[in-house]
Amino acid sequence: MPRSSSSQDVVCPNVACGQLNPPDAKFCEMCGAAIAATPSQKVGILCFPDGSELQIQPGTTRIYGRIELAKYLPSQTEASWISRKHFSITNDDTGFYIQDDSSLNKTILNGEEITGKGRRPLREGDEIEVAGIVKIRFATR
Ligand SMILES: [Zn+2]
Repeated sequence: MPRSSSSQDVVCPNVACGQLNPPDAKFCEMCGAAIAATPSQKVGILCFPDGSELQIQPGTTRIYGRIELAKYLPSQTEASWISRKHFSITNDDTGFYIQDDSSLNKTILNGEEITGKGRRPLREGDEIEVAGIVKIRFATR
């Protein structure tokens, strides 16, 4: 019996197929293509004060430090405040996470210092303050 479709349906990633699948489907009902969970399909965005954006690809872990962040800072002298490996952001099926194990000048998430406190969930609109010199807004798309 045909299932009635809903706005939550997931379109098959196989473009030639295009089958609408239930929101919780792991594989396409028509062609069997793997369907990633919704959170991992989102791209994370680090939004800098000057309006520039740095994208976080789904399913990745990346470390951010002075090299990665330098071009988004108001002045290059500030880059030295940021550790070479300042914090990392991970994305998996369950969402986005930020972790700072050992930065010298700390990472603040929504006003709370997270350095040495392990992995913290990152949510739309969260504010990441790096070494007290730059505030980054986290968004997903
Ligand atoms: Zn399909």
